[in-house]
Amino acid sequence: MQSRRDFLAGLGAFAVAPILPLDRTEPEILLYNANVLTVDERRPRAQAVAIADGRFLAVGSNERVRGLATVRTRKIDLAGRTVVPGFIDAHSHPAVAGRLHLRQLDCDLRSITAIQAAIRERASKTPPGEWVLGFKYDDTKTSEARPLSRADLDEAAPAHPVYISHRGGHTAYTNSLALRMAEVAEETPDPAGGRFDRDPETGKHNGRISERATDAFDKIIPENYSRADYREGVKLMAQMLARAGVTSVHDAYGSHEDLRAYQDARAAGDLSVRVYCLIGYREIDRLIAAGVRTGFGDEWVRIGAMKMTCDGSISERTARLSEPYVGRPDDFGLQVMSEEEMYEQGRKAHEADWQIGIHANGDVAIDLVLRLFERLQRERPRRDPRFRLEHCTVINDALVQRIRALGAIPTPFAAYVYYHGEKMREYGAERLNRMFAFRSFLDAGVRVAPGSDYPPGPFEPMMMLQSAVTRTDLKGNVWGAEQRITAEQALRIGTLHGAYASFEERLKGSIESGKLADLVVLGRDPLREDPATLVTVPVEKTMVGGRWVFEA
Ligand SMILES: [Zn+2]
Repeated sequence: MQSRRDFLAGLGAFAVAPILPLDRTEPEILLYNANVLTVDERRPRAQAVAIADGRFLAVGSNERVRGLATVRTRKIDLAGRTVVPGFIDAHSHPAVAGRLHLRQLDCDLRSITAIQAAIRERASKTPPGEWVLGFKYDDTKTSEARPLSRADLDEAAPAHPVYISHRGGHTAYTNSLALRMAEVAEETPDPAGGRFDRDPETGKHNGRISERATDAFDKIIPENYSRADYREGVKLMAQMLARAGVTSVHDAYGSHEDLRAYQDARAAGDLSVRVYCLIGYREIDRLIAAGVRTGFGDEWVRIGAMKMTCDGSISERTARLSEPYVGRPDDFGLQVMSEEEMYEQGRKAHEADWQIGIHANGDVAIDLVLRLFERLQRERPRRDPRFRLEHCTVINDALVQRIRALGAIPTPFAAYVYYHGEKMREYGAERLNRMFAFRSFLDAGVRVAPGSDYPPGPFEPMMMLQSAVTRTDLKGNVWGAEQRITAEQALRIGTLHGAYASFEERLKGSIESGKLADLVVLGRDPLREDPATLVTVPVEKTMVGGRWVFEA
């Protein structure tokens, strides 16, 4: 085994070093008779792993690893099951999602009638005048084949203000009372970077509001979550992630309350997923003043990049594109933050040695964000800033080359082709060959790290694998076949590349001795599975830091 000093000598200045179990040579747990897919290029396959102090002590053949066992070692025969590194979701919103699951209506329903019934039921238990809130509504997944309207919501709950967020989080659907309470009258102008939608025939508000128009509602909807609610939300979400095999998650827009919630959940013994918490730019000044920067924390809760948002959403079709949406020749999407504002915030963070992550979906937004990153590096070169392009959905060759030259990390939506296939028509078949461009990034040597963006996208890693390998949606339509990658590549980007995106590639992301013992036991081998059924590969057990956090 390599000595601790040699190991540390090879590390870069920012990369997080593994701490080898110094005086432990006796394994606490031993998994054997397994098909271990290590994601370690030097030893891609193994039969057994030994674990001590929450880390891998040894990885290798049954014979060699079992030789380390003592009478105190717990030996588990996996009977040929497949073991992979724990999955790392490089872009998600777990703290927010957990709180929404605690309180709001889950509107992931298949008809407007069903949504109305859920609203009616909630309203019957809510005093008149108080908000009825919902999330995960998807305008393309209801049987009526039309979006939810203000009239639908008025009918379901006339005496309650109703606010239903779209699954994508960039648009919402409101009723008349909600609009009145937000002081949005028919003559109210659209705010910069936002829109109050109108019925094309009557010219009146139809209840749909997008992007910055939601600010008026954010201000008046009471956020009455207690500190305990915050902690409970994290606990709930951590359990959901453990069941799916996710062992680390990057929270793409954390607040100070979210950060506290992760720490509270951990202190209560309820945090079963590791969190790299990106911090919203509005909160960055206080942290810089306190001397905190990216990397602060430990292997459970760590401060991530500073996060900003440049443009709109893919699932809600508001991303800022160079070519218009199919069927809407004048619609190029929305930019939500100006270049000057992003530069001012970005410069502060860059000078304070923060990693920066900027949401950029459309090619126009990506170009703008790359220009900003290039400028920051020109003005103050840093050795390894690992700029992140959150989502980075619609690309072209020139953009990929600039991403490669910067060493930047894109975090595309992992499961959108499979799950959100019906929205892809609005981008068009040709453009899909330049979207969620895992193949283009890998071919260029870019360390792309997939993200779910949950709630907007599903977080199940097996769905990510199927989506990236087949580029086929739920109905069998193929979108962007040129971007297909192999299951092996999908496994690698879903584990090791996620670790790289948080400067933790030497600490986790593959099954190697010295790394954190985060792993998933699968019912079948995803590399031998028919790609069309990858989504059905069962997650049987999930281990984080040598402890089982889920067992089916
Ligand atoms: Zn996001």
